[in-house]
This record gives sequence, structure tokens and C-alpha cells, in this order.
Amino acid sequence: MLKISKIRNIGHYFNEREPEFLEKKPAAQTQPKGTIIEVPFAEKDRAKSLGAKWNSEIKKWYIPEGIEKEKFSEWMEDFRVLNPPIYLASSSTNCWKCSQKTPVFCLAYRASKKSDGYVTFVSFLGYVPNDLHHIFKEKAPTYYLAYTKQSDSSYYVNHCKCGAKLGDFFLHEEPDGPFCIMSKEELNQITLSDLNIKNAIEIK
Ligand SMILES: [Zn+2]
Repeated sequence: MLKISKIRNIGHYFNEREPEFLEKKPAAQTQPKGTIIEVPFAEKDRAKSLGAKWNSEIKKWYIPEGIEKEKFSEWMEDFRVLNPPIYLASSSTNCWKCSQKTPVFCLAYRASKKSDGYVTFVSFLGYVPNDLHHIFKEKAPTYYLAYTKQSDSSYYVNHCKCGAKLGDFFLHEEPDGPFCIMSKEELNQITLSDLNIKNAIEIK
């Protein structure tokens, strides 16, 4: 059995190339205005009574804009701060449903400034700032917020042209997954495109 957790951060000196993108398709997804919170089913009535709203498209509760966030703190996830350079990583995999080769994406960043080739891939991305959300729409239109039964949550999920969801459990954690890196050869199949983000960003 491979110890997957230990190889999630891997050192690599990479060439920056422009990834090949799918033909542009408008993403139907819109980011809900407000702050997404993680409310267990048993606590939904209490969250609702405090003013939380339900977004049925992504199956998440959120705090609408203009409402005090402090009273929802128990349901707010911690943000992670990423410092630039921040990359869109792209690779491809065969769809589990239609077997066609399909592009897949994730966010990547350098784990440490000291090791300038060291890259970390972000899985189960649940929230990005609006600027980045729009960059995904343009550069990775098949990568958008969606609910998956397997995770029982919504996150940025890759989608095949056939409509199948290619979940992060497979892409990042299964040994065959394109973002589960076991060797330098596998890493070389990943393209990193610098998103030219100038300031640190907060993600979940
Ligand atoms: Zn497919």
C-alpha cells in the first residue's frame, strides 16, 4: 500500500507552459453572494433562524451580504492564505464514465519561498475570491463549484464534456489520479500556468 499522504507536496523544477484548454463553454455556475458556511443537517434550523440562506445549486448554507458574520463563527471554516505565485495546474485523465481523455485542473502554489521549485496542489477547494473564480471561468471552464455525493459537500469539481464529475478523491488521492504524484514522470505531465496574482489570497 502506498503512503499517499506523504507525497502530497513534492519538489520539482518545472517549465511554465500554457496549458491546452477545452473549447470555451460558459460555466453555468455562479458564486453565491456572501460567505459559505458548513452547517450540519441537525443545525440547519438554528442557522436559518440566524439569517443563513440555502443555495440549492451548490447545496450549501451561506451568510448573505450585509449580515453580521460573528454569530456564524462556529460554522465558518478556516481560511488558508496562499502567497503568489499561484498557478493553475492542468493535466488530463480518462473519464470514468465515457472513457474519453478530458482535461482536469487544480490550483497550485509554492509551498515555501525558499525552495523555489516546490509545488503543492490544492484539493477540495471550497472557496476562492471572486477574481480567481472568474479566472477559472475563463481558463478552466470545466472546473467549478458542484456538489458531490462522495464528499457530501460542494467544492471546485472537474467535469468531463459528457457531464460526469471527476472528483478530487480520484484526481488527488488515488494512485492513478493525475494530481497524485508518485514520480517525476507523472509530475512532468502537469502544466503549471502562472495566474499572475499579485497579492496573497484567502481560500478554503
Ligand atoms: Zn466523460
